[in-house]
Amino acid sequence: MNLLARIFHGRTAGTLQTQPQPDRAQVRNEAGGYVYALDRWARVDRFLILGSEGGTYYATETQLTKENAVNLVDAIREDGQRVVARVIALSESARAPKVQPAIFALAACAGFGDEETRRYALGEGLRRVCRTGSHLLTFCSYIEQFRGWGRGLRKGLRGWYEGKPVRDLAYQALKYQNREGFTHRDVFRLAHPLATDTERAALYAWIVKGDVPGDEHESLALLRAHAIAKASEDADVATCAELVRASGLPREALPSAWLKEPRVWEALLPTLPMTALIRNLATLTRVGLLTPKGEATARVLARITDRTALRKARIHPIALLAALTTYKAGRGARGSATWTPVPAVVDALDAAFGLAFENVEPTGARTLIGLDVSGSMSSGTIAGIPGITPRVGAAAMALTHVRTESDVQVMAFADRFVPFAIGKTESLDSVVKRTDALPFMGTDCSLPMLYALEKRLPVDLFVVYTDSETWAGTMHADEALRLYRERMGIAAKLVVVGMTSNGFTIADPNDGGMLDVVGFDAAAPALIADFTRGA
Ligand code: CA
Repeated sequence: MNLLARIFHGRTAGTLQTQPQPDRAQVRNEAGGYVYALDRWARVDRFLILGSEGGTYYATETQLTKENAVNLVDAIREDGQRVVARVIALSESARAPKVQPAIFALAACAGFGDEETRRYALGEGLRRVCRTGSHLLTFCSYIEQFRGWGRGLRKGLRGWYEGKPVRDLAYQALKYQNREGFTHRDVFRLAHPLATDTERAALYAWIVKGDVPGDEHESLALLRAHAIAKASEDADVATCAELVRASGLPREALPSAWLKEPRVWEALLPTLPMTALIRNLATLTRVGLLTPKGEATARVLARITDRTALRKARIHPIALLAALTTYKAGRGARGSATWTPVPAVVDALDAAFGLAFENVEPTGARTLIGLDVSGSMSSGTIAGIPGITPRVGAAAMALTHVRTESDVQVMAFADRFVPFAIGKTESLDSVVKRTDALPFMGTDCSLPMLYALEKRLPVDLFVVYTDSETWAGTMHADEALRLYRERMGIAAKLVVVGMTSNGFTIADPNDGGMLDVVGFDAAAPALIADFTRGA
């Protein structure tokens, strides 16, 4: 079956992957192979970054969520404050594609933690992780699974509202009126925030009763503009656009008919948050604002390729990958909306994808990237993002590596070698398309090392993107690495990039030359580079 393994098996004892290695503590993965159990804290990271939405090839979403919740609660019981600190750190540095897992974990800390942990979660945690009105409502929808509406929770939520400046809070409450069945009015009924001045009292009256604040409250002009917009639904386009321009109303606060008008979108552009801009590129093209030679197009493209702006807006690379695949398709996943993609927009998203990762200095290490493109890697999605399977995500990340490093090769494998090179000049779109078209097969994660050995390739660093559901080889991946080191006389390292939030890894936890990182962690390329340099 496995030619490479047979060649190198010979006198060097290897262990069938369906058997544990005799001298190592291994566990059986879902595919029937033996690998290592991922450390509890590393699995917390996988959950915070990848979530469990969509499940995996082997586990339904419910199973995967349950497993991760059990692991999370174990971690909270071991050291709850460490969990809260981790959630805050990952959330603030925008390393995860989505905020929901962090908010879920924060709610779990507020429910299962000891007193100190709960106070930390409901104070600093709530303030730093739930930065928007949307985050807060999502938190409220999760918290009921973990605890009742006791004093500590009410106090924490009151603190969230009372700690926000009036102008910011008005914007948040207007922009995000409703999430997961929760409204700010619902939260007010439970938590009873107190207003200490008339400005704030007027805002709270708008939230609870819908009372439009009077002219005397300068910081609440946005709410008055909202009332005017609602009353002028049928106004002519120029009037609508002028109101949008003058007021800075967010698009969520506009009558939906206005959002078909290019002039309204043009008026929205200066204040449109980066996330919304990236999500609405198709709409902007459809309404005719983005055209190959348009003036607005140049401004939009400059903005989405501004590294500082991307990082400041906490844009995750996968949001750009998702935007690129959707935009390039020229039609929405649902409904009949179509548009003609502007090539410069596709190119800008491709560039922005690379820019959104934490900045990495090339290490110069001789690197071989092994992409697991087996059947299981084509099932499920990264962080629940449609169309981005683990293997598509892995190939996209490999491309950033290829573009950064000088001495890097990509190979793909399933239960045999799969020809799949990626060059520095290949586009992200092309890599994604080629990955999607690969056949489905079994899995042998020892192949990257055996491939390098067979070709006598000098490699300092192996980076293997996988779900660690390996079973087909006649030698374990870590055995293959040790064999490679011995035969080539190179102290090669191995980084395992986990592409699903399962609890398995092929990295031997007792070998300092092997490391686990989480797939689609925006910091993954930087973590890999640090490990390569020996930091
Ligand atoms: Ca597999």
